[in-house]
Amino acid sequence: MARRIPEPFRIKMVETIRQTTAEDRRHALQEAGWNPFLLKAEDVYIDLLTDSGTGAMSDRQWAGLMMGDEAYAGSRNFHHLADTVREVFGYAHTIPTHQGRGAEQILFPELVKRCRGQRPVFLSNYHFDTTKAHVELAGARAVNVLTPQALDTGTAYDWKGDFDLPRLREIVAEEGDNVAAVIITITCNSAGGQPVSMGNIRAVSELARAHGIPVVIDAARFAENAWFIRQRDPAYAGASIASIVREMFDCGDMFTMSAKKDGLVNIGGLCCFKDDEALFRAVQVNCVPMEGFVTYGGLAGRDMEALAIGLKEGLDDAFLSYRIGQVAYLGERLREGGVPIQTPTGGHAVFVDARLLLPHIPAEQFPAHALACELYLEGGVRAVEIGSLLLGRNPQTGKQEPSPFELMRLTIPRRVYTNDHMDYIADCLIEVKKHAGAVRGLTFEYEPPILRHFMARLRPV
Ligand SMILES: *Cc1c(COP(=O)(O)O)cnc(C)c1O
Repeated sequence: MARRIPEPFRIKMVETIRQTTAEDRRHALQEAGWNPFLLKAEDVYIDLLTDSGTGAMSDRQWAGLMMGDEAYAGSRNFHHLADTVREVFGYAHTIPTHQGRGAEQILFPELVKRCRGQRPVFLSNYHFDTTKAHVELAGARAVNVLTPQALDTGTAYDWKGDFDLPRLREIVAEEGDNVAAVIITITCNSAGGQPVSMGNIRAVSELARAHGIPVVIDAARFAENAWFIRQRDPAYAGASIASIVREMFDCGDMFTMSAKKDGLVNIGGLCCFKDDEALFRAVQVNCVPMEGFVTYGGLAGRDMEALAIGLKEGLDDAFLSYRIGQVAYLGERLREGGVPIQTPTGGHAVFVDARLLLPHIPAEQFPAHALACELYLEGGVRAVEIGSLLLGRNPQTGKQEPSPFELMRLTIPRRVYTNDHMDYIADCLIEVKKHAGAVRGLTFEYEPPILRHFMARLRPV
């Protein structure tokens, strides 16, 4: 058996978490309308809702906070951040933003303005939900061109984040001048934190360049993607993470980043350009009214300092091996326990296939959401549904259509929980599996008209 990778850090400060009784949890979940989003965080023992902004900063980052230069314009921390972007990614121009969607909202309208076609479209392996929303707010369409291998959760495939290249070529040929940009999402969050291969990134970039299409990298989990490339592509077996990151970003023209993931900060984002100064200037103009002056973009000086430090810490070999190893360890424990999961496990989360675990619950009774509720009742672990509840109704017909996936995501925050916590989570879920047949589906008491999964109230049928 492979030796387990222990945490490559020791603990200098602790935050108490409180275990509750089964009765407390039933009461809390009822109060929350059977929707884990509406729980008080204090009623949660282990919180796996998201890996976004939930990580732990290092001693060096906390020290950086004390070095904040809160000048309105030209803060020293902004320059440190821009220098770090030049060094890590090789991009000349940096705009800080309050988080990833801040970068999307100032960039996409400019790409739409520059598009020569009448019906602008963005093509991505998979648009993250805010990314799709900002494409549509900018008046364009968002089309996903993901490899069909990603849909088969039971079969392992190394690159489930890849574009479907033959299909991409067809769409580029059909749409012609309408293609406003190609967005390469690394790793592919929506397919389960699955990596995109270097060969795929390069091929997409070459195709786009041949047609004069700008290449945007959606870079939230750039370091995890680089780690997977080194692990799985023999051509990169001896390469450094830093050199793989440079090679990936050489294939892009600009990137948007939610720094709340691999940037290892609790808040922050980036919008950066390799060399297109005209586009950079135009996006800076949008930044001022939306995010704030161009050298802070919604962040305090101290936040930019913590990010400049976090971007480099996130490249550390020992950290990434432990990080992705911890997610794989949880996946392995679940698989041994007979819990069906998306294989192989991704960089930031384990996805449990609720359709296989709860086959008696139909899509319109939200099997993955029912599973998340049951896991909370079992052990105070909060997970999130990625399935029919998230998908929503068909906007044309108002009908609830089944989602292609009914997944429950166990998202692991960075540097927060130990491997003992992973064992506890696995034990709880294996216990749930034993009485899976008794888990009931859910129906609405209140269904919000849009983004319903956040605020919905439900009850067991
Ligand atoms: C989180 C995320 C975003 C949006 O970033 P926020 O910081 O939440 O605004 C965009 N794309 C991907 C792939 C993400 O994971």
